[in-house]
Amino acid sequence: MLEAAGYIVVPWGQPAALCIVNSCTVTTKADRDTRRLVRFAKRLNPDAVVVVTGCYVDVARQVLADIPEIDLLVPNRDKHRLLELLRAIDTSLPTDTCRDLPYGVYGPLITRFSTHTRAFVKIQEGCDSRCTYCIIPSARGPARSVFRDDVLRQVRLLADQGHSEIVLIGTHLGRYGADLDADGDLTSLIHALVDLPSVGRLRLSSIEPQEITPGIVELLADGGRALDPRAEMLAGYGKLCRHLHVPLQSGCDEILRAMGRPYDTAFYAALVWDLVTRVPGLCLGADVIAGFPGETDELFARTEAFIRSLPLSYLHVFSYSPRPGTLAAELPGQVSPEVRKARTRTLRAISDAKLAAFVEAQVGGQLEVVPERRAPDGRLYSLADNYVRVSHDGPEAILGKLVCVEVTAACGNLAWGESWAETESPAPDETDD
Ligand code: SF4
Repeated sequence: MLEAAGYIVVPWGQPAALCIVNSCTVTTKADRDTRRLVRFAKRLNPDAVVVVTGCYVDVARQVLADIPEIDLLVPNRDKHRLLELLRAIDTSLPTDTCRDLPYGVYGPLITRFSTHTRAFVKIQEGCDSRCTYCIIPSARGPARSVFRDDVLRQVRLLADQGHSEIVLIGTHLGRYGADLDADGDLTSLIHALVDLPSVGRLRLSSIEPQEITPGIVELLADGGRALDPRAEMLAGYGKLCRHLHVPLQSGCDEILRAMGRPYDTAFYAALVWDLVTRVPGLCLGADVIAGFPGETDELFARTEAFIRSLPLSYLHVFSYSPRPGTLAAELPGQVSPEVRKARTRTLRAISDAKLAAFVEAQVGGQLEVVPERRAPDGRLYSLADNYVRVSHDGPEAILGKLVCVEVTAACGNLAWGESWAETESPAPDETDD
């Protein structure tokens, strides 16, 4: 929209007439970062229009309204009206620039991701859960799904632009379709998407453990292979990436209950073992929060032991920080920052070891990767379907394409490979929107 109105996107830090900060409010640190960024943006570009949008605007509008460096606040629900709101400030902006842009029900579709080889498609917004540490439901509102036809149009558009990998994202991805008519759940959507000839591969972002349905496991187990004409050539790979990120948050039932999480460790462990047994080579990641209120040394030791016992491939570890406006911030037994940091370090060390072992296990095999960029050492830096980062040689022409590599060695969290073959390009989609 902005380009259609005459703006040119420049890298952050270069002189600009308009600076947009898309804020996050998940922690107080994220809030601080936003305030720091807007001040920095105005200092760098005193004449620029500084816009803040995103969740911080929805949660603390008045705090931001009092910051003199900010010219315009745009709540999440009005993001698609950004240009119209800017026109109220800058009347020189042309008025009919969006006429030719493709539209979905909720606003213009995304036509390209200029700095990513992967394309991110939001299929769901909002959350009806009430995890006691989380402010997101206040910022994003109730769970709601993007209409299936709009998802299909958006995915086709990005795949046709050459994005080999589509990542499905949502605040609460597993709830996709709950508010839509029959036949609209996540599993049937994935089926429809892997069936599109132009889609190279499809990845799911974070999904709650209780929302991984038998249908999703079946799809992962064969990777959507039955629907993928490249299946024979890829010798076992399908379009659905062998990668799941399944939040755990704690390996201790008392803490899970205090967090308001709707499962226990027995359920999580059974799910993880079932997944790794049925989906060979699956990469399984998990979020964990260290130092939640009430987490004694003994309870943390149980989390540590539980995580060590599971075949997880990596962790995203968050040091708990009390978020004003959440129930957990008021709970007794707050853990000191030093202890939270020490537990975070322990869990990150476990994660490093698990990831190194997972990467090591790839040696001698083949991976389907998308080369994302050329690294300073001259080799290509790529992402495999099972989320392994791979360094390998290869020409510029394969950047952004699906390529197979032989993995010859592992070095920490990085696999070392040799280019093997470019996989057949996905066929252009002939459906006319
Ligand atoms: S499921 Fe829990 S952690 Fe995730 S967005 Fe909803 S409230 Fe937050």
